[in-house]
Amino acid sequence: MDKHPRTNTIKLHRYLASLTLLSASLTAAARCWQDDGLTQIMWGVARQHFSTLLASMPRVEICSPEHFPNSQIGGQYVFGNRIIQVPTYGVNRDDLTNVLAHELGHAEAERRGIDDRSLQGHGVGWMRVMIEAGLGHEAQRVAGYLPGAAHALQLAQRQGNNSKQFADAGKAAFKCIAQVQLFVSDSKGQRIETYEIPGCIPR
Ligand SMILES: [Zn+2]
Repeated sequence: MDKHPRTNTIKLHRYLASLTLLSASLTAAARCWQDDGLTQIMWGVARQHFSTLLASMPRVEICSPEHFPNSQIGGQYVFGNRIIQVPTYGVNRDDLTNVLAHELGHAEAERRGIDDRSLQGHGVGWMRVMIEAGLGHEAQRVAGYLPGAAHALQLAQRQGNNSKQFADAGKAAFKCIAQVQLFVSDSKGQRIETYEIPGCIPR
Protein backbone atom coordinates (compact mmCIF):
# COMPACT_ATOMS: atom_id res chain seq x y z
CA MET A 1 0.00 0.00 0.00
CA ASP A 2 1.33 3.41 -0.93
CA LYS A 3 1.97 5.60 2.09
CA HIS A 4 1.97 8.85 0.15
CA PRO A 5 -1.02 8.87 -2.17
CA ARG A 6 -1.35 12.65 -1.98
CA THR A 7 2.29 13.31 -2.97
CA ASN A 8 1.94 10.98 -5.91
CA THR A 9 -1.23 12.70 -7.04
CA ILE A 10 0.66 16.00 -7.06
CA LYS A 11 3.50 14.35 -8.98
CA LEU A 12 1.04 12.97 -11.51
CA HIS A 13 -0.52 16.41 -11.94
CA ARG A 14 2.90 17.94 -12.46
CA TYR A 15 3.74 15.24 -14.99
CA LEU A 16 0.53 15.88 -16.91
CA ALA A 17 1.15 19.63 -16.76
CA SER A 18 4.65 19.18 -18.16
CA LEU A 19 3.26 16.97 -20.94
CA THR A 20 0.79 19.71 -21.83
CA LEU A 21 3.63 22.26 -21.89
CA LEU A 22 5.74 19.93 -24.03
CA SER A 23 3.01 19.44 -26.62
CA ALA A 24 2.36 23.20 -26.64
CA SER A 25 6.05 23.92 -27.30
CA LEU A 26 6.14 21.23 -30.02
CA THR A 27 3.29 22.99 -31.79
CA ALA A 28 5.37 26.17 -31.89
CA ALA A 29 8.62 24.26 -32.52
CA ALA A 30 11.16 25.86 -34.79
CA ARG A 31 11.39 24.49 -38.28
CA CYS A 32 14.20 24.90 -40.80
CA TRP A 33 14.21 24.13 -44.49
CA GLN A 34 16.39 24.65 -47.53
CA ASP A 35 15.49 27.08 -50.29
CA ASP A 36 17.00 27.11 -53.78
CA GLY A 37 16.67 30.88 -54.18
CA LEU A 38 18.46 31.60 -50.92
CA THR A 39 21.15 29.06 -51.76
CA GLN A 40 21.76 30.82 -55.08
CA ILE A 41 22.09 34.20 -53.36
CA MET A 42 24.57 32.75 -50.86
CA TRP A 43 26.67 31.30 -53.71
CA GLY A 44 26.68 34.69 -55.39
CA VAL A 45 28.02 36.34 -52.24
CA ALA A 46 30.65 33.60 -51.86
CA ARG A 47 31.81 34.01 -55.47
CA GLN A 48 32.27 37.71 -54.82
CA HIS A 49 34.01 37.56 -51.43
CA PHE A 50 34.90 34.02 -50.38
CA SER A 51 36.26 32.10 -53.36
CA THR A 52 38.22 29.94 -50.89
CA LEU A 53 34.90 28.57 -49.61
CA LEU A 54 33.48 27.52 -52.97
CA ALA A 55 34.92 24.01 -52.73
CA SER A 56 33.32 23.41 -49.34
CA MET A 57 30.30 25.63 -49.04
CA PRO A 58 28.16 25.61 -45.91
CA ARG A 59 24.45 24.84 -46.17
CA VAL A 60 21.97 27.67 -45.87
CA GLU A 61 18.44 27.28 -44.58
CA ILE A 62 15.43 29.34 -43.65
CA CYS A 63 14.13 28.87 -40.11
CA SER A 64 10.91 29.89 -38.39
CA PRO A 65 11.31 32.88 -36.03
CA GLU A 66 11.05 30.70 -32.88
CA HIS A 67 14.45 29.31 -33.82
CA PHE A 68 16.16 32.60 -32.94
CA PRO A 69 16.62 34.17 -29.50
CA ASN A 70 15.21 37.51 -30.67
CA SER A 71 13.87 39.24 -33.76
CA GLN A 72 16.95 41.49 -34.05
CA ILE A 73 18.94 38.56 -35.39
CA GLY A 74 19.29 38.56 -39.17
CA GLY A 75 21.04 35.22 -39.33
CA GLN A 76 23.32 32.83 -37.51
CA TYR A 77 26.06 30.35 -38.26
CA VAL A 78 26.06 26.94 -36.61
CA PHE A 79 29.71 26.10 -35.92
CA GLY A 80 30.60 22.46 -36.41
CA ASN A 81 27.53 21.73 -38.54
CA ARG A 82 28.46 24.45 -41.02
CA ILE A 83 24.92 25.72 -41.49
CA ILE A 84 23.83 29.30 -42.06
CA GLN A 85 20.32 29.96 -40.78
CA VAL A 86 18.21 32.92 -41.83
CA PRO A 87 14.85 33.69 -40.19
CA THR A 88 11.77 33.84 -42.41
CA TYR A 89 11.47 37.56 -41.67
CA GLY A 90 15.11 38.07 -42.78
CA VAL A 91 14.77 36.63 -46.27
CA ASN A 92 13.17 39.75 -47.73
CA ARG A 93 15.24 42.25 -45.79
CA ASP A 94 17.43 44.70 -47.69
CA ASP A 95 20.53 43.57 -45.83
CA LEU A 96 20.14 39.89 -46.74
CA THR A 97 23.37 39.73 -48.78
CA ASN A 98 25.20 41.52 -45.98
CA VAL A 99 23.85 38.98 -43.48
CA LEU A 100 24.98 36.13 -45.72
CA ALA A 101 28.42 37.73 -46.13
CA HIS A 102 28.67 38.06 -42.34
CA GLU A 103 27.78 34.38 -41.81
CA LEU A 104 30.05 33.22 -44.65
CA GLY A 105 32.82 35.03 -42.76
CA HIS A 106 32.17 32.68 -39.82
CA ALA A 107 32.29 29.69 -42.19
CA GLU A 108 35.58 30.92 -43.68
CA ALA A 109 37.04 31.50 -40.20
CA GLU A 110 36.05 27.95 -39.25
CA ARG A 111 37.50 26.58 -42.51
CA ARG A 112 40.81 28.27 -41.67
CA GLY A 113 40.71 26.68 -38.22
CA ILE A 114 40.42 29.98 -36.43
CA ASP A 115 39.19 29.19 -32.95
CA ASP A 116 37.34 32.41 -32.51
CA ARG A 117 34.59 31.80 -30.02
CA SER A 118 35.50 35.00 -28.19
CA LEU A 119 33.06 37.88 -28.70
CA GLN A 120 30.46 35.36 -29.87
CA GLY A 121 32.66 34.49 -32.82
CA HIS A 122 33.47 38.10 -33.72
CA GLY A 123 37.02 38.22 -32.40
CA VAL A 124 40.24 39.18 -34.16
CA GLY A 125 40.17 36.12 -36.42
CA TRP A 126 36.71 36.84 -37.86
CA MET A 127 37.59 40.52 -38.20
CA ARG A 128 40.69 39.63 -40.24
CA VAL A 129 38.67 37.32 -42.48
CA MET A 130 36.14 40.09 -43.11
CA ILE A 131 38.77 42.76 -43.83
CA GLU A 132 40.59 40.44 -46.25
CA ALA A 133 37.28 39.67 -47.99
CA GLY A 134 36.70 43.36 -48.58
CA LEU A 135 33.94 43.41 -45.96
CA GLY A 136 35.57 45.73 -43.46
CA HIS A 137 32.33 47.76 -43.31
CA GLU A 138 30.55 44.78 -41.74
CA ALA A 139 33.39 44.32 -39.24
CA GLN A 140 33.00 48.03 -38.43
CA ARG A 141 29.25 47.63 -37.94
CA VAL A 142 29.73 44.77 -35.46
CA ALA A 143 32.47 46.73 -33.67
CA GLY A 144 29.93 49.52 -33.27
CA TYR A 145 27.51 47.55 -31.10
CA LEU A 146 29.33 44.56 -29.62
CA PRO A 147 31.27 45.42 -26.44
CA GLY A 148 34.95 44.61 -26.87
CA ALA A 149 34.69 44.13 -30.62
CA ALA A 150 36.14 47.56 -31.40
CA HIS A 151 39.41 46.50 -29.78
CA ALA A 152 39.38 43.25 -31.77
CA LEU A 153 38.88 45.27 -34.94
CA GLN A 154 41.86 47.49 -34.07
CA LEU A 155 44.04 44.43 -33.53
CA ALA A 156 42.84 42.90 -36.79
CA GLN A 157 43.62 46.11 -38.66
CA ARG A 158 47.07 46.25 -37.07
CA GLN A 159 47.73 42.63 -38.08
CA GLY A 160 46.71 43.56 -41.59
CA ASN A 161 49.12 46.48 -41.66
CA ASN A 162 51.93 44.26 -40.33
CA SER A 163 51.38 41.63 -43.01
CA LYS A 164 51.24 44.38 -45.64
CA GLN A 165 54.57 45.69 -44.36
CA PHE A 166 56.00 42.16 -44.62
CA ALA A 167 54.74 41.92 -48.17
CA ASP A 168 56.18 45.33 -49.05
CA ALA A 169 59.53 44.39 -47.46
CA GLY A 170 59.51 41.19 -49.49
CA LYS A 171 58.87 43.13 -52.67
CA ALA A 172 61.67 45.57 -51.82
CA ALA A 173 64.10 42.70 -51.30
CA PHE A 174 63.41 41.45 -54.81
CA LYS A 175 63.00 44.85 -56.36
CA CYS A 176 64.77 45.26 -59.64
CA ILE A 177 67.30 48.05 -59.74
CA ALA A 178 68.10 48.80 -63.30
CA GLN A 179 71.39 50.39 -64.14
CA VAL A 180 71.38 52.75 -67.03
CA GLN A 181 74.46 54.28 -68.53
CA LEU A 182 74.18 57.61 -70.13
CA PHE A 183 76.61 59.35 -72.37
CA VAL A 184 77.00 62.82 -70.93
CA SER A 185 78.55 65.71 -72.72
CA ASP A 186 78.76 69.06 -70.92
CA SER A 187 81.22 71.77 -69.93
CA LYS A 188 83.22 69.22 -67.86
CA GLY A 189 83.74 67.13 -70.90
CA GLN A 190 82.41 63.87 -72.23
CA ARG A 191 81.95 60.81 -70.09
CA ILE A 192 79.71 57.85 -69.28
CA GLU A 193 77.61 58.15 -66.12
CA THR A 194 75.82 55.26 -64.44
CA TYR A 195 72.46 55.74 -62.77
CA GLU A 196 70.32 53.32 -60.77
CA ILE A 197 66.63 53.50 -61.37
CA PRO A 198 63.86 51.36 -59.87
CA GLY A 199 62.36 48.87 -62.26
CA CYS A 200 63.45 46.01 -64.41
CA ILE A 201 64.94 46.20 -67.84
CA PRO A 202 63.42 43.56 -70.09
CA ARG A 203 66.01 40.99 -71.15
ZN1 LIG B 1 28.27 36.74 -36.43
